[in-house]
Amino acid sequence: MLNIFVEANCNRYVRDECTYCHVYEPLMKIDRSDWHLLPEQAQLMADKIKQIDLFHQLAQNEINFTGGEPSQNPQLVEIFHIFRKLSPNVRLHTNLDIQSNTHSRWLRLVEIMKLQGRVDFTLYPTVWESRQKPLLQEILGLQNELIVNMIFEQVPDLLTQLETMTVFFKEQGVKFHPTVTLLEKHSEKIEALIQEKPNCSEAEFNQYMSDVESYTTVGGFTFGVNMILGFVVDERGERAMVSQPFPKDVNTLECTIPRGTIEIMTVQQTGEMTPCCDVGNLKCQPKFGNLLTDSPDAIMRQIEISRQKMVTGTARNIQNIQNGKPGEPVEEGIPPYCV
Ligand code: SF4
Repeated sequence: MLNIFVEANCNRYVRDECTYCHVYEPLMKIDRSDWHLLPEQAQLMADKIKQIDLFHQLAQNEINFTGGEPSQNPQLVEIFHIFRKLSPNVRLHTNLDIQSNTHSRWLRLVEIMKLQGRVDFTLYPTVWESRQKPLLQEILGLQNELIVNMIFEQVPDLLTQLETMTVFFKEQGVKFHPTVTLLEKHSEKIEALIQEKPNCSEAEFNQYMSDVESYTTVGGFTFGVNMILGFVVDERGERAMVSQPFPKDVNTLECTIPRGTIEIMTVQQTGEMTPCCDVGNLKCQPKFGNLLTDSPDAIMRQIEISRQKMVTGTARNIQNIQNGKPGEPVEEGIPPYCV
């Protein structure tokens, strides 16, 4: 999958004020004039992607527009057309915090769904009833797939979000019964977990949820639920490696690079790339090139140099964690909890 930042603006939150947004700190450095990815830049990226087999393959699997809030980009539809030529699966993730169905941001999303792009959203309970719910109803009439992200700061919050979605899909008719069943299974599990282990660890949570499917494709509607931990963000806007729901646990990241594969490449507005979902908060030092300014050969050379660093760096991180020195920086410049 290729994650492409098309828009830095986070819409609901003013970037200079909200230090809780996971993109706040890296995007602080980007000039306002560079908040929107331009079609010319998108075309440059697309041309480069075509010339790099690895990237072309990732793009074919999926291109995901991210940000910030992608629907804020006024040229989003034009950008969609450019990347759609590279991939049958172009999707975007929105906060769906949009005033009404006449707003230009919503009209862009409609256009994209009509062009067979997929729109997913993150549930925000504070704007669910007033803004998200009526538009989600319209989304269900325009596409037969949906992933809902649920960011949770406490396990009971997650249960509340699951129940919100269950009530909604129950009202949408028989086609969505499998979706309701999937959501109810999640809720049942979490209710039992809260009863049994109200202060469970992340490992216990994962173990408990391991036999619950995240997707259903039954009944002509594909639905997925994505439960995302809320992370502690410090006063400098940097993401801590402990999560809000499980604050006692350090969160390690399994880097795929030392394992010999690149499954995701995140491309920032600036063209800088990281081969995982991180948008720059973790300050991974090995560089993977710039999709806007570097040649395909230079990018491939850089990937190999950085891959070597990650092989030794992750091995050192594992040693440090095993030897009671978690968090100790390593000379390879990779984050200390990447293993
Ligand atoms: S080392 Fe960590 S931050 Fe760097 S690419 Fe791997 S998982 Fe991402």
